[in-house]
Amino acid sequence: MRTKLVAGNWKMNGSLESIRELIKGIQAGMNAVNTAGVAVCPPAIYIAEVASLISDSKIQLGSQNICDQDSGAFTGEIAGSMLNEFSCKYAIVGHSERRSLYGESDEQVATRFAAARRNGLTPILCVGELLEEREAGTTEDVVARQLDAVIKLEGIAAFADAVIAYEPVWAIGTGKTASPEQAQEVHKFIREKIAALDATIAENIVIQYGGSVNGSNAVELFGMPDIDGGLIGGAALKADDFLAICKAAG
Ligand code: PEP
Repeated sequence: MRTKLVAGNWKMNGSLESIRELIKGIQAGMNAVNTAGVAVCPPAIYIAEVASLISDSKIQLGSQNICDQDSGAFTGEIAGSMLNEFSCKYAIVGHSERRSLYGESDEQVATRFAAARRNGLTPILCVGELLEEREAGTTEDVVARQLDAVIKLEGIAAFADAVIAYEPVWAIGTGKTASPEQAQEVHKFIREKIAALDATIAENIVIQYGGSVNGSNAVELFGMPDIDGGLIGGAALKADDFLAICKAAG
């Protein structure tokens, strides 16, 4: 039995003042979230602050990325051991913005996925196709290629401690959500691809949907059999909107 997970990716937004307000607002409504797991992924500089603000709550903490190396001369990067010091549970890897704006290849994403696991963090592996790839009918090929890079490096067993986020790039931050049926089709493909290698892992792995999820579309999306919650961008920046999505997850 999978437990749905809703994770807020705050990206490079907020200030000390606004994140304190946001956490206060989320905490105030957490009683109405029954079964779903809830996590927030603040900008790295605010991880310490958020860790102390949520220490007594059910909210969990994640990072927006993780270095593939464990220490040393890697300017601007953050090591898994550092994330552990602030009780991070999750590390997003391969977000489409990292892939497209910062050139992270499938192979580099795989090494970051490996670093998360090596450091006891649960990677949230983002996969998803561009609009032109969907229009060319290559969605499954793209998602398979992104998954295969990780499977090749880490083996299928690594997915026993991982989350996958299917995020069609054309739906991220655009207000264009994939229909529940469109999303379910890809989620089912991902689960079946994993099942071909390990049925138990496939049954248990949490596969989130991400891309313009909001309080109104979350119920239908999360009602699909292979959609286990969401990775949320814009709507994670307002406590009421984020809580509505968390409640839709259970
Ligand atoms: C994201 O960036 O992971 C995302 C899903 O963003 P949004 O919810 O704003 O589309």
